[in-house]
Amino acid sequence: MRATVMYGAHDVRVDVVPDARIVEPTDALVRVTRACICGSDLWPYNSMPPTETGNRMGHEFIGVVESVGPDVRTVKKGDLVVAPFAWSDGTCEFCRQGLQTSCLHGGWWGGTRLDGGQGEAVRVPLADGTLVALPVGPDHALMPSLLTLTDVMGTGHHAALRANVRPGTVAAVVGDGAVGLCGVIAARRLGAGQIIMLGRHADRIALARRFGATDVVSERGDAAIERVRELTGGLGAHSVLECVGHGESMRTAVGIARAGGAVGRVGVPQEAAIPDAQPTFYRNITIAGGPAPVRAYMHELMPDVLEGRIEPGLVFDCVTNIDGVPDGYRAMNDREAIKVMIEF
Ligand SMILES: [Zn+2]
Repeated sequence: MRATVMYGAHDVRVDVVPDARIVEPTDALVRVTRACICGSDLWPYNSMPPTETGNRMGHEFIGVVESVGPDVRTVKKGDLVVAPFAWSDGTCEFCRQGLQTSCLHGGWWGGTRLDGGQGEAVRVPLADGTLVALPVGPDHALMPSLLTLTDVMGTGHHAALRANVRPGTVAAVVGDGAVGLCGVIAARRLGAGQIIMLGRHADRIALARRFGATDVVSERGDAAIERVRELTGGLGAHSVLECVGHGESMRTAVGIARAGGAVGRVGVPQEAAIPDAQPTFYRNITIAGGPAPVRAYMHELMPDVLEGRIEPGLVFDCVTNIDGVPDGYRAMNDREAIKVMIEF
């Protein structure tokens, strides 16, 4: 079968790899129908040291179950299923409390030992805990939005929850990538009264406004902090969704949070420390967040997608096939595309 392999920075190839197959009795074999490239894939795309073996890529996919191991109960051959960006058993202490990204027996797609989502098929470990069957066919019009439940929509939702978005409060979103845009959807869905998007790209701002942003701040750094304070009566935002992961974006997030507010961070941190410990302390700002347990949110968000209340699939502004994946990475890295969908 064919799959995406990253050999180093700016070196993404489509290779012929060993066919995915059932290994454990709890596995499912899934033929991928849709997948995508994630903003977090761009971190290794810009920094991975060269390797001989490469890493299999992709952690967002929907597909059809081809076969299941003898212990799999909740999905069967022929089901269309959606996978979260981490696999999990669904039964351990952390899974039961809805924190599947900390599953005691789970893990991450791709790398050197497991299949990734940006390939023709995937061996899915712990299929019962990991996969969710979809009630529609593989070519349904809502497929792009359903695909965002694998990561970006659930991650934006997680940022909003961790930032404590409540009805009528002020939310601000740092980062105008797909996660930040989904964060706008999530903040609106949870009832935020004012939603301030920090971003500069015209197409992304337009989408943010369509998703419910009430204000846009295009300044950076201290000027952005100043502008958000102007928009919030000098106080700052109750809830800040940090959807980038850079030190500078975190500094901005802390700077625009009001005293007693919360920063929900879902951008993978690129620095070892959280900046601005003293302002965070003196203003009683909660810093929370981490890898979103999107598996926990699928059942909550899916009805909103299926019934048309939210349309996160609009973040896909580029569609390609597996041969177009290397150029898809380039396009996202050059900010030519917000998010690339791969059709198989
Ligand atoms: Zn678990």
